[in-house]
Amino acid sequence: MNENAADVVVVGGGVVGLSCALELLERGREVVVLEAGRVGSGSSHGNCGTITPSHAPPIAAPGMVGQALRWMLRSDAPLYIRPRWDPELWRWLWRVAKRCNREDWLASARARAALLNASRELLERWVKERGLDCEFRASGLVYVFRTLEMLERHAVECEQLATLGIASEVWNAARLIREEPALRGGVAGGIFFPGDACLRPDRLVNALARAVRERGGRILERCEVASIEADPVRVRLVLAEQGTWVAARAVLATGAWSSRWSAALGVRIPVQPGKGYSITYERPAQVPQRPLVLKERSVCVTAWEGGYRLGSTMEFSGMDARLDPVRLRALEDAARDYLRDPLGPMRLEEWYGWRPMSPDDLPLIGPVPGRSSVLLATGHGMLGVSMSAVTALLVASMVCGETPPIDPTPCRVDRFA
Ligand SMILES: Cc1cc2nc3c(=O)[nH]c(=O)nc-3n(C[C@H](O)[C@H](O)[C@H](O)COP(=O)(O)OP(=O)(O)OC[C@H]3O[C@@H](n4cnc5c(N)ncnc54)[C@H](O)[C@@H]3O)c2cc1C
Repeated sequence: MNENAADVVVVGGGVVGLSCALELLERGREVVVLEAGRVGSGSSHGNCGTITPSHAPPIAAPGMVGQALRWMLRSDAPLYIRPRWDPELWRWLWRVAKRCNREDWLASARARAALLNASRELLERWVKERGLDCEFRASGLVYVFRTLEMLERHAVECEQLATLGIASEVWNAARLIREEPALRGGVAGGIFFPGDACLRPDRLVNALARAVRERGGRILERCEVASIEADPVRVRLVLAEQGTWVAARAVLATGAWSSRWSAALGVRIPVQPGKGYSITYERPAQVPQRPLVLKERSVCVTAWEGGYRLGSTMEFSGMDARLDPVRLRALEDAARDYLRDPLGPMRLEEWYGWRPMSPDDLPLIGPVPGRSSVLLATGHGMLGVSMSAVTALLVASMVCGETPPIDPTPCRVDRFA
């Protein structure tokens, strides 16, 4: 039997796994990354690349259940649950529904804000100090509203966000058009979040992989882990093709595929794939200055030097690998409603990704009780790029026995027992 050994094995080569690997290498650990496909081939590839403390409020909010039920009737709605028999999904939805109250909303928002603020700062530092070439811009981000009613509803939240350390400015229609002339007339106003940022996510993943290799880390692609046996001091990972890896620690950063480890580790990992889509184009003649969220349609618009992307939608349809033309069309229809030059001259890529969604919209980060040789770093939902740096810092501090930089309690892995 082909048995290999390493100090730390990271399973999953997305933005979260690679960031963890990099931070562990920086602390002198010997690290191997095992990736089932190609590096960055999961959700970390075609996402919108926004770094968003502004998104601290979780999806589960008061009133959300009614809204979700109304959306279920429309296949082009921002949130869609394909009706089907899937007990795990319905259990997961029930957990989310129970959290649609003010108290749980605030608890998640507080914990998310702490992670997002720390990560935003760290990411900018990493980009500079570690030379991560990914078109990072401290651009801020703008929520754009076509209806006054929706603008007013969100403007009320700004005060709450300020108490969580997230600054914002409400812009009337005239100011919004002055700041963002790429918008069409007829908008009601916007909310500007100066602390947000953006980057090109596929370039970030490539830059992280390069940095890992430069520091002596190994990344093995097409290397799927089929099963795990763990005790408090050692973990054994059996590969699907052939061979095994033995390590003092394993970090499971397997995104939307993470629930498969529940039985082997004896801990509930309720991570559902939340499917989202994007279309990438050549850059149109007139693009927004900053990333925009077209709020009534929940579509995100990001422009980089070499491209332009429309992305979003949240679909719970299991691991359905089809590119649904209705949902792709919904992205373009939304852009046409808000923007003067809504689509680029040529489509470069149509894409979907599965976001790793947890019921409380918080990641699962930390050791598995009773099997502390295994740590989880998953469940980052809509914010895996935004939270990648702080996740890496938390994981590395836990592996190296240091005091974590922020309180990891809200992310503990056994909270769904
Ligand atoms: C349309 C869309 C837009 C988004 N926009 C943003 C945004 O603007 N900002 C933001 O912060 N986030 C955004 N996200 C969310 C973000 O993309 C995810 O949260 C993030 O990519 C998750 O990273 P990850 O490394 O956990 O997962 P992934 O990138 O999915 O990586 C997991 C990896 O694990 C590998 N793997 C799985 N099982 C195994 C196994 N058994 N053995 C070996 N390898 C395995 C997979 O092949 C995969 O490469 C968006 C997502 C979507 C879909």
